[in-house]
Amino acid sequence: MRRKLVVGNWKMHGSLAQNKALIASLIANLRDLKNADFAVCVPHPYLFQAQALLQGTNIAWGGQHVSRFEQGAYTGSVSARMLADFGCTYAIIGHSERRVFMHETNMTAATSFGAALKAGLTPIFCVGETLEEREAGVTEAVVESQLIAILNTLGAQVLSEAVQQRAVLAYEPVWAIGTGKTAAPEQAQAMHAFIRRKIAERDSGVAARVRILYGGSVKPSNASQLFAMPDIDGGLVGRCSLDPNDFKEICRAAC
Ligand code: PEP
Repeated sequence: MRRKLVVGNWKMHGSLAQNKALIASLIANLRDLKNADFAVCVPHPYLFQAQALLQGTNIAWGGQHVSRFEQGAYTGSVSARMLADFGCTYAIIGHSERRVFMHETNMTAATSFGAALKAGLTPIFCVGETLEEREAGVTEAVVESQLIAILNTLGAQVLSEAVQQRAVLAYEPVWAIGTGKTAAPEQAQAMHAFIRRKIAERDSGVAARVRILYGGSVKPSNASQLFAMPDIDGGLVGRCSLDPNDFKEICRAAC
């Protein structure tokens, strides 16, 4: 039985004062929820604050990206080891907003996935198709190529390393992110089952254990139906993670 996980992706939102208030509400709201795992992925400058306020609570924290490089002359980049220094459990890797706006590719995302594993982090690796790709009928091919990039870039042994560090996948149809449009539970389930099947073709043990989150306009009104699907192991939540009451309702739906 896979334990559900709900991760808030704050994106590029927040300030020291706003985060302080949001984290205080999250701690109070989630304190009594024992049957799932919770985390927030915050902008890098606020990792120290997240660590200071969240340690000892049932909410883990993480970053939203890591460099594919370990260290060196890469101005503006943040390494996986730096996230580990601030007690991060998680790092989101290959989010579609980074693929679109920061020109990340399957190869760079896969390399960052490897860097996160090497630093002892749990990567949350995002895959998902655009609306044009869905309409062209290539959803499965696109998602498969995003997954395969990990194996092609890092080699087959990455699967055992990934499972040891409880690596997480997130299926995030790009057309559902931040748009208010959510994949229907059955539509999301079909893709989660496809992803699990593809992993099972290589290692059925890994496929049975890996948590696959759904992301794309998860909200209190749809979280329960999504999380009831057999292959949906929780959510990656953007907008509603900034509202402590919405986030609480989503987390409660995972319990
Ligand atoms: C996300 O940031 O990964 C996301 C799914 O955002 P939203 O919940 O706002 O669609």
